[in-house]
Amino acid sequence: MAIPSGEGPSRNNTSRIQMRQSITIPYRSRESEEQHVVEAQGESDAGEGREVTSGGGGGAGRDGSIPVTLADPDILDCIICYQPLTIPVFQCENGHIACSTCCVRIAHKCYLCREPIGHIRCLAIEKVIESIKFSCRYARHGCIEKITHFNRSIHEKGCIYTPCWCPIDGCQFTAPSKKLSEHIHHEHHGSFINFHYDSFLDLKLGLNQKVVVLKELTDSNLFIITNGQEHMGNVFNVFHIGPKSSAAMYEYELYARTQGCCLKLESFVNHTLGNNFHGTRKFLLVPTDFFGPSPAVKIEIRIYKTYESSRCE
Ligand SMILES: [Zn+2]
Ligand SMILES: [Zn+2]
Ligand SMILES: [Zn+2]
Ligand SMILES: [Zn+2]
Repeated sequence: MAIPSGEGPSRNNTSRIQMRQSITIPYRSRESEEQHVVEAQGESDAGEGREVTSGGGGGAGRDGSIPVTLADPDILDCIICYQPLTIPVFQCENGHIACSTCCVRIAHKCYLCREPIGHIRCLAIEKVIESIKFSCRYARHGCIEKITHFNRSIHEKGCIYTPCWCPIDGCQFTAPSKKLSEHIHHEHHGSFINFHYDSFLDLKLGLNQKVVVLKELTDSNLFIITNGQEHMGNVFNVFHIGPKSSAAMYEYELYARTQGCCLKLESFVNHTLGNNFHGTRKFLLVPTDFFGPSPAVKIEIRIYKTYESSRCE
């Protein structure tokens, strides 16, 4: 399926181009009663712009926060390693700042002026990076989290509102995994198989069946079993459709049995956003002729949860 990749934000040179982003700063003053003009021209995510964060119709929020425009988001990053600044932030005598990791890396000598750095905290910028809150890049899909700059990457990698692609061949629908599950339930009847966690499921795959979509009956989570045909035999992979961090919550046992012989793979489920089923080294290889002359491939799978999610709901 030729669908553009839309996985989370990536840090690269182009992201350092000046851009304007909407942020919210908790702030109580008379000014917070006034209307503030907000502009958002943030990073794009599969063609989506960052949502404007607004406390109340563009004005102050109930908590006194105000939406503002950050003309240069790079000021929240360490100028040496380009990573988001985290507390503590240090400054040299001339006011150049660096993160604590970089202070060690540059042997406590400011890389701009060679003055000592690593002893004087820059409390002003620490307060700024703590108080500035961003909307999640998936706000338009329903996420209402407000995140500090240094937590954005972690949150967005695990955000349950990350849009995923419908895995049914030929369908271009995208939505967060919960909505995608509803979509598949209503639009692709007969194209998925229901199952329960912790129960064994027998599957018989035709020679040309590359993908099996599984839908769990209690939480409607979607899983994919892929069947790739390599020169040595069939290669099976198991994926959860959802954000990256979600996959570690599930494990599986996959069996291929024939008379007197059993192949088994026990592993963590991989993750996919529905558009990419490659790049994993965890798979079950069932050699050619393992099932004899039968054109069908028979496998057995049990998927189970390893722990409960702590993700935002
Ligand atoms: Zn740094
Ligand atoms: Zn300096
Ligand atoms: Zn989010
Ligand atoms: Zn679809």
